[in-house]
Amino acid sequence: MKRIAIIGAGAAGCFAAQRLRELCPGAEVTVFEAQDHPLKKVAVTGGGRCNLTNSFSLVSNLTEVYPRGHRLMKKLMYEWSQWDTMSWFEEHGVRLVTQEDECVFPLSQRAMEIVGVLRRGLDIRCGRRMTPADLPDYDAVVVTTGGGRDFSWFREQGLEIVQPVPSLFPFRLEPTGLEQLSGTLVADSAASIGGTPYHAGGITLITHNGVSGPCILRLSSYAARHLAECGYRAPLVMNWLGDASEQDAMDMLRGIALAQASRLVVNYRPEALTSRHWEYMLGRAGIGREMRWGGMGRRQMNRMAAVLTSDTYTITGRVPHKEEFVTAGGVSLTNVDAATLRCKSIPHLYFAGEVLDVDGVTGGFNLQAAWTMADAVARALARELGDARENME
Ligand SMILES: Cc1cc2nc3c(=O)[nH]c(=O)nc-3n(C[C@H](O)[C@H](O)[C@H](O)COP(=O)(O)OP(=O)(O)OC[C@H]3O[C@@H](n4cnc5c(N)ncnc54)[C@H](O)[C@@H]3O)c2cc1C
Repeated sequence: MKRIAIIGAGAAGCFAAQRLRELCPGAEVTVFEAQDHPLKKVAVTGGGRCNLTNSFSLVSNLTEVYPRGHRLMKKLMYEWSQWDTMSWFEEHGVRLVTQEDECVFPLSQRAMEIVGVLRRGLDIRCGRRMTPADLPDYDAVVVTTGGGRDFSWFREQGLEIVQPVPSLFPFRLEPTGLEQLSGTLVADSAASIGGTPYHAGGITLITHNGVSGPCILRLSSYAARHLAECGYRAPLVMNWLGDASEQDAMDMLRGIALAQASRLVVNYRPEALTSRHWEYMLGRAGIGREMRWGGMGRRQMNRMAAVLTSDTYTITGRVPHKEEFVTAGGVSLTNVDAATLRCKSIPHLYFAGEVLDVDGVTGGFNLQAAWTMADAVARALARELGDARENME
C-alpha cells in the first residue's frame, strides 16, 4: 500500500486528502498539522461564512483575479474549475448560494459546514510542525503549509523562494480630512498608485484612517510587491467618478452649471457623491460653498474636474485586514512542474495552495486556487500510483 503524507491541514491539504481518497482509495493518506486543530483559517474565512469560490462570470481574464499564478491557474482550471468546486461540495451535502456579486457561499452561511465536510474521514495528526525531512517513510509528501514566512528548509534544498509579502490590505493615508467621511461608500470608484501601472476599480470604503473596500484591496494585491519595496509609502490617486476622464468630469460640471445656474454649489452635487463627500471635494478644489453654479469660472471648474478624477493622497502604511489576507510570494513556480505541481528537483515532493507563489484578490478566488491546486496534485499522485501498479505487475 502506498503511503502519502500531507503537511498542513488547511484548505489545500484537506482537499488534497479528500481527492486522494476518491482517486486512489488504496493509498494510506495522513495529514500533519502544526496547530492543535485542522482548518483553523477556513473556519474564519469570509467573516465566518466562507466565500468558497466565485462564479467567475465577471472575470474576463484570470490576470484580473490572480496577480500571481494566473497562467498556472488557467492551465489547472481546465481540470478543476469553479463548477467542479460547486458540484463537489453539493455532492457532499453542502447547499450553495451565489450572491449578486458572484461570490459563492454555503447556504447555511457557516464556514464550519465547509470545515466539517473537508475533515470528514481524514487521518489528521495535530500539534507538530513538520518538514518533508521528518517523513522519510512515505512514498510521496505534499506540502500545503499556506502563506507562512519560514521557507528555510526549502531554501536549504536549493529551491527558489519568492520573498513573501502581504497582500489584500486597506491603506492608511496621511490625514487630509477625508477620514471625517469614515463609513462613506463610493460605489463606482477607481484607484491607482501614482507613477505605476497599478490600477483597480470598484467600491471604495472611506475609513477612519484611510481607504478600504474591494477596489482598494484589489489594488493592494496588484501592487503588493511594489508597495512592500517602497515601505508602504506611495501616492494614491483616487478617481471618485470611476473611469470617467477629466474631460468627462468637465462636461458633467458644465452641464450642471447650465441647468442649475442659480443654485448654490453646496446644494446641488454630482449624483455619484454623497453630500458630505461633495462638500469635502469643494474644499479640496478650493471652491466656496456659497458660490452659485452659474458663477463657477473655467479655472475653478478645471480644478474640480481634476480633484474628482485624480485626487491624490499619500499612503503611509498598511492596515491589517481581518476579513481576508493572503501572502504573495513563496515557493517559486519555477520549482514545480506546471501540470502536476511536482517538485522538479526533489523526488516525490509536491506543493499546493498558498505556499506556492500564487494568490488572488478577494471574492473566493484564493480558496478556488487551493481546491484547484490540491486536485492537480491528487490527480498526479493517482496517475503515479497507477503507473507504479502497472510497473509492478
Ligand atoms: C481571515 C481570512 C479570511 C479569508 N477569507 C477568504 C474567503 O472568504 N475566500 C477565499 O477564497 N479566501 C479567503 N482567505 C484566504 C484563504 O483562507 C487562503 O488562501 C487559504 O486558506 C489557503 O489555503 P492553504 O491550504 O494553502 O493554507 P492554509 O489554509 O493557511 O493552511 C495551511 C495549514 O498548514 C499548517 N502548517 C503550516 N506550516 C506547517 C508545518 N511546518 N507543519 C505542519 N503544519 C503546518 C498551518 O497551521 C495551516 O493549518 C481568507 C484568509 C484569511 C486570513
